[in-house]
Amino acid sequence: MNWHSKQLNELSNFFKVDFEKGLSEKEAEIKITKEGKNKLAEKKKDNIVVKFFEQFNDFMIIVLLAAAGISVFTSVIEGKGDFIDPIIIVTIVILNAVLGLVQENKAEKAIEALKRMTAANAKVMRDGKLLHIPAEDLVCGDIIILETGDYVPADARLISSINLKIEESALTGESLPVEKDYEVILKEDSSIGDKRNMVFSGSSVCYGRGKAVVIATGMNTEVGKIADMIISDESPETPLQKKLSETGKILGIAALSICAFIFLIGVLRRIPPFDMFMTSLSLAVAAIPEGLPAIVTIMLAIGVQRMTKKNAVVKKLPAVETLGSASVICSDKTGTLTQNKMKVVEISDGSKILNNSDKQTTLILRCFSLCNDSILEESLDAPNIMGDPTETALVHAAFYLGINKNKIDREAPRVGEVPFDSKRKLMTTVHKNKASDYMVITKGAPDFLLDKCSYYYENGEKRALSYQIKQQILTQNELMADKALRVLGVAFKEESSIGTKITTSIENNLIFCGLVGMIDPPREEVKEAVALCKTAGIRVCMVTGDHISTAIAVARKIGIMSLKDKAITGEEISKMSFEELCRDIYLYNVFARVSPEHKVRIVKAFQSNGAIVAMTGDGVNDAPALKAADIGCAMGINGTDVAKGASDMVLTDDNFATIVEAVKEGRGIYANIKKAVHFLLSSNIGEIITILVAIVLGWKSPLLAIHLLWVNLVTDSLPAIALGLDPSSDDTMHNKPIDNHKSMFSGGLGFKIALEGCMIGMLAIVAFGIGVTHFDSFGRVSVGRTMAFAVLSISQLVHAFNMRSEKSLITVDLFSNMYLIFAFIAGLVLQVSVIMIEPLAKVFKVVPLSPEQWIVVAFLSLLPIIFVELEKFLANKGLKREVVKVN
Ligand code: ATP
Repeated sequence: MNWHSKQLNELSNFFKVDFEKGLSEKEAEIKITKEGKNKLAEKKKDNIVVKFFEQFNDFMIIVLLAAAGISVFTSVIEGKGDFIDPIIIVTIVILNAVLGLVQENKAEKAIEALKRMTAANAKVMRDGKLLHIPAEDLVCGDIIILETGDYVPADARLISSINLKIEESALTGESLPVEKDYEVILKEDSSIGDKRNMVFSGSSVCYGRGKAVVIATGMNTEVGKIADMIISDESPETPLQKKLSETGKILGIAALSICAFIFLIGVLRRIPPFDMFMTSLSLAVAAIPEGLPAIVTIMLAIGVQRMTKKNAVVKKLPAVETLGSASVICSDKTGTLTQNKMKVVEISDGSKILNNSDKQTTLILRCFSLCNDSILEESLDAPNIMGDPTETALVHAAFYLGINKNKIDREAPRVGEVPFDSKRKLMTTVHKNKASDYMVITKGAPDFLLDKCSYYYENGEKRALSYQIKQQILTQNELMADKALRVLGVAFKEESSIGTKITTSIENNLIFCGLVGMIDPPREEVKEAVALCKTAGIRVCMVTGDHISTAIAVARKIGIMSLKDKAITGEEISKMSFEELCRDIYLYNVFARVSPEHKVRIVKAFQSNGAIVAMTGDGVNDAPALKAADIGCAMGINGTDVAKGASDMVLTDDNFATIVEAVKEGRGIYANIKKAVHFLLSSNIGEIITILVAIVLGWKSPLLAIHLLWVNLVTDSLPAIALGLDPSSDDTMHNKPIDNHKSMFSGGLGFKIALEGCMIGMLAIVAFGIGVTHFDSFGRVSVGRTMAFAVLSISQLVHAFNMRSEKSLITVDLFSNMYLIFAFIAGLVLQVSVIMIEPLAKVFKVVPLSPEQWIVVAFLSLLPIIFVELEKFLANKGLKREVVKVN
């Protein structure tokens, strides 16, 4: 249907909708069952069977399964009927795949839940009420409201518009915003780019506002037609995943070479080649750390879920990693550092503070109420005022002086406007006044407003605004701002006629009328969060559109600014070259009266000094800064869709302290990934060492193929996952930000892994030695093997606890990670079962151990704690000595 060439009444008839009231909920419910959800088709997901088989998509596992197949085949040919080994191998590999599948599913679910949370909302009229609903619930005929910063949620025909400009580059490739006008009726064959009375899904509102009736949803929209599969599930590897997969490859090659070496020596020592092949192959499967990148995904996804509970919705997994490295946080003031609960506390005519009975007070508040987008709902008890807190505070103050916004709006209806813009810092409305005159009212930042004024108002008279008077007003503004008040000025003029199109050019020759000062108390938790950032080596800066004196006063209150710190304004930043800004950026903690372009420069200047920057933003114009920042944080409550779309993280409570919490979590997740990698690699090395030493010494192998697979794929996985769930400790915020240029293995981790791996390997060897020499009859190794198997597995379960902190275990609350305790118990029960339950012991080719033998196993398995405690003690002592040297 060519809606762009139809009259508005044709639309309302066709959709049977009242443009004022919208559809009823009931109608919408019926329609959605017919039309389907307003969303684009998603890529088909792999089903569970495909996903399960994908778990085997690893070269070494395929070789292992092939080898198991060959062993079955040879057994059949030789008529031996010994299928136990291959069956066990296949069972372990399947068990491992199931474990992998469960984890992957969990990670996927977490990511899906996030997608749902960050999905766009739409403002819609239903049953005469304005509702915020998920955009996917829209149906044709719905009346939607569009405001600056909103995404257009469906294709729609405009039914009203004020200065509406839409960015449609996703559809037309045209990057400049297009002006829209509901009044034009177009030719039938107009192209998308020319349809000025229509808006399309996938575009965004840059300026102004409008109302429209939905004409197409979901796959029937223009974007739906051009992009069948716009939503891709592929998420690129995160930097840490990339680094770990590289490290994994190097370690894999090393492990493979050692396995080949072991195979060779074994064969030379006349161990049956097929047995030796199975042992080295299982060792390779067990020791090659191909799962490292997967661990990162799972842990990041779990971390994302945790952050969501703390009001930080991370949209992209890599952001979690980046958060841990954040070294500068640039935060908005209003609403993020402060409560955004504005209250007018002072009113001035520019020279003195006025009281409520002054005539000019009434005029000032009347103007502020008219030039205001809030909605006043009167009820019997108290008025309910909805809208931007700055504006609602003004309507509130007026209401209590007997000025009712609804009433004065009726007396002087608005006929035109220039919306508020954070660059101009002004807003203008035009009202029809009395019989024929028009009244133009402009409100906004006093320093910007005064440039548009030629007169001022005093004692009911209009007077020329001299330089002195202007200075006097600015001084008054300054005095109010020094008290941490947000100051707004208001001016007006009367005109006998206005043009058809209202633009900023109308803001001239205004009569300055007065100032109001509002308090906006800092959020209580912010002071503590700022202090925490200081101990964590993170610089906190305030980047605000507000006046410099207000900004400084608030910054001092919350500890962002000390006496030696400086503040700078956007105007001064504009005058500096980029090189100068980069050189001096660390001198400033407060950036005031900035516009969105300055934000981009500030981010880039910090980044050029090597900083990892988190930047907050809410408006459409903040999108470039949010994109430029390493972590763009959009406001969930007051943020626009566009800002949310451009950000990496959404703060659902708009709170600065949430960013700091997220950084803490980010650091905690990095630490947990490090713990899991540390644990897995030291365990892998332990297994290699056990086999290598035994083969070199010419012993029988202390571990069989199935033992290696069992320990590595089953008992090890549980503690590794549990370590990923370690709660982030407060310690994480006592260190400097993570340097993401450095490898995870720098700072001694690589050495520790190797050392601890050798320790575990040696413990298994000792267990084997004791078993063979003390408990096995001559020429047999079954008790030795069983003890080596038990020590290898249990010492690793014990070793997992060592990972919890770089400090002594005595300082750690062991019960703060119950998952690890459960993993330990589960691993222990499984391990003891395969040894002590006869049929299982037979399958695993081990023998049940006596209490005496168990005591030896227990003693050896506990040694990692003592060994690592000693290692930590020496390392911390060394660290202290270094600190003393530096001091
Ligand atoms: P932050 O960037 O920290 O959130 P902010 O909210 O003060 O600070 P802006 O919203 O860009 O930043 O506002 C800048 C200035 O514009 C304010 O100091 C105020 O003087 C003026 N202002 C804010 N809201 C309005 C409004 N609705 N109408 C007119 N002027 C406004």
